[in-house]
Amino acid sequence: MSQSLQDDYIKKESIYGAQNYSPLSVVLEKGEGAYLWDVDGNKYLDMVSAYSAVSHGHSHPELVKTLQDQSSKLAITSRAFYTEPFADFLEFLSKISGFESILAMNTGAEAVETAIKAARRWGYFTKGIPDNKAEIIVADGNFHGRTTTIVGFSSDDAYKKGFGPFGDGFITAKFCWSDCSIQDSIDSFSSKINKNTCAILVEPIQGEAGIRVPDYGWLQELRKLCDKENILLILDEIQSGLGRTGKLFAHDHEDIKPDGLILGKALGGAMLPISAFLSSKEVMNHFNSGSHGSTFGGNPLASKVAKRALELLYEDSLIENSFTLGEYFKSSLQSIDNKIIKEVRGKGLWIGMELNDSELNAKDLCMMLLNEGLLCKETHKTVIRFAPPLMISKKEIDWAIKKITKVIRSV
Ligand SMILES: *Cc1c(COP(=O)(O)O)cnc(C)c1O
Repeated sequence: MSQSLQDDYIKKESIYGAQNYSPLSVVLEKGEGAYLWDVDGNKYLDMVSAYSAVSHGHSHPELVKTLQDQSSKLAITSRAFYTEPFADFLEFLSKISGFESILAMNTGAEAVETAIKAARRWGYFTKGIPDNKAEIIVADGNFHGRTTTIVGFSSDDAYKKGFGPFGDGFITAKFCWSDCSIQDSIDSFSSKINKNTCAILVEPIQGEAGIRVPDYGWLQELRKLCDKENILLILDEIQSGLGRTGKLFAHDHEDIKPDGLILGKALGGAMLPISAFLSSKEVMNHFNSGSHGSTFGGNPLASKVAKRALELLYEDSLIENSFTLGEYFKSSLQSIDNKIIKEVRGKGLWIGMELNDSELNAKDLCMMLLNEGLLCKETHKTVIRFAPPLMISKKEIDWAIKKITKVIRSV
């Protein structure tokens, strides 16, 4: 790989850009389907998918066309007016999700903030919690975004150190993971509930924490707990939703329905940011005119692309593909059987490979995979995540398995 040109851009970014990321040293120029090319023309298979925002593949022709057509017609209006694409998007998302009411924002973090506001209003106006006393219970290891409110209830010091003071109203319970059983976790959530609790907010699978998949039944128990205590169950499916786990939503694996659902990432069809909070009319109707909003939220361009992206989940069989190839990919990785691998886990095309503690960390392995033409990203020091676009083919997965096996055997 010629580094000269790439080094120029890398240097420029490090001179003029804030250093809030540590990217792998490759400068990308082009994407198509599951592939990416760098500025020197080297081709890579994408196993990151922009943290699951690229489910449809890069530059899906239908989505490019939708984006072009709508942008040359009407792109941004603000919500001061009605538009047809927004109305159509709302209707379609409501039909496939089964939620009565939707509020559109742009980024994931904004949709999480929306969910927090909705839960608190419901807590005050429906449940009768005294002013400014509402509490929301979250899980340890959570990742819900980067606003000051959200990082305030993170348990990861890297996300919050030096960004305080943080607001009250969030309490942390134990996620069902590692040696924390379903019962331990539910006991932990249960012990944090009081008369001022309005919601439990969790990810059904913790992505950023390292693809932590809780035991089957945990969501059902949380659902029961929330019903018993008159608390809203809100699921952050920004990363796990829209087919990533092999079902439309990760909570479909347990046949439960949350009271509030947060979507983002792949909703934008790998074209632009759009996010949404979905809930019942009972919850959503606490937002009245002027109480919440976003200049770009629900703009016709994003709405048009998002509706087409949702349709393509079905037309391109992305959900089934994620289910079938996910199982195949996971079991193939599990069968590599090497002492550096501690565990391979995941659901659908969302797989984490945890390495045993050793000299070699996950980032080193990602560098080695990069040299073989695979773009992967570590999460924390010991987990590599494999989350290709959901349109990836079995042939491409087979190629990836061959390369991953080769790299692991070589260390
Ligand atoms: C990515 C992510 C977010 C934040 O989304 P942004 O668009 O980056 O603000 C929130 N929750 C989960 C589970 C995520 O994966």
